[in-house]
Amino acid sequence: MKTIDVFTLFPEWFDWFRGQRHVANAERDGLELRTFGWRETTPLTGGQVDDAPYGGGAGMVLRVDVVDAALRAAYGEARAPTRVVLLAPSGRQFDERLASELAAEPHVALLCGRYEGVDERVRERLATDAISIGPYVLSGGELAAMVVADAVIRKLPGALGHAESALEESFSDALGGAPEYPHYTRPPTYRGWEVPEVLRSGDHEGVRRWRLEQSRERARRAAEERERAAAEDRTRRAEAGSG
Ligand code: SAM
Repeated sequence: MKTIDVFTLFPEWFDWFRGQRHVANAERDGLELRTFGWRETTPLTGGQVDDAPYGGGAGMVLRVDVVDAALRAAYGEARAPTRVVLLAPSGRQFDERLASELAAEPHVALLCGRYEGVDERVRERLATDAISIGPYVLSGGELAAMVVADAVIRKLPGALGHAESALEESFSDALGGAPEYPHYTRPPTYRGWEVPEVLRSGDHEGVRRWRLEQSRERARRAAEERERAAAEDRTRRAEAGSG
């Protein structure tokens, strides 16, 4: 990964993000993180970037000509990013595997929507991907872009102080895709709350086995929780439908 470009109504929001240690480390090591404001290149007067939806309905929609103008201004005839990602609640669910996929790309653009959303022709014609950070609706794509950029940047060599910390963490191959095991630090006893004995035993093989078991147990509990939530959701929808 060499370049991440973020297209947004609020480029200044990313000043804070850029100030984070791991992001600064990655930039020092050659990552370019650039921001582009939709209003800076809009072909419309008065900084307009949105319009009312065809077919009626509430809210405004980010225009396709505004997005196209921003991409043309940024890239012109130059090499376009290898991935142009529209942040959208209905997109492919972002996960650790997708973060690794993006981290392996040389150049990724992240397009942040606002308002009621983005003209569908952006997704159809200009974007290579649509990505969702979860099944809920944010007010804009900026926080989603930061989530994606953060997870991707963690994967770049040198971004984290300790290279190993990204190897065996939640959802990594090293843990078979399961969540990470629990961590403890000093003091060994606090208000009667004990650190598990095995972690203080010096038995490396014992520690390794304990961590693997804990990680698997967390995966099992998370799967159970998802199944329970899905069942509740089905019941709620069925009741709402029959009411
Ligand atoms: N009307 C849209 C819908 O119901 O799907 C929601 C639009 S949302 C208020 C405005 C923008 O926020 C979207 O265009 C998208 O860029 C961003 N956004 C909101 N939730 C998101 C999510 N879960 N993942 C990624 N982007 C999201």
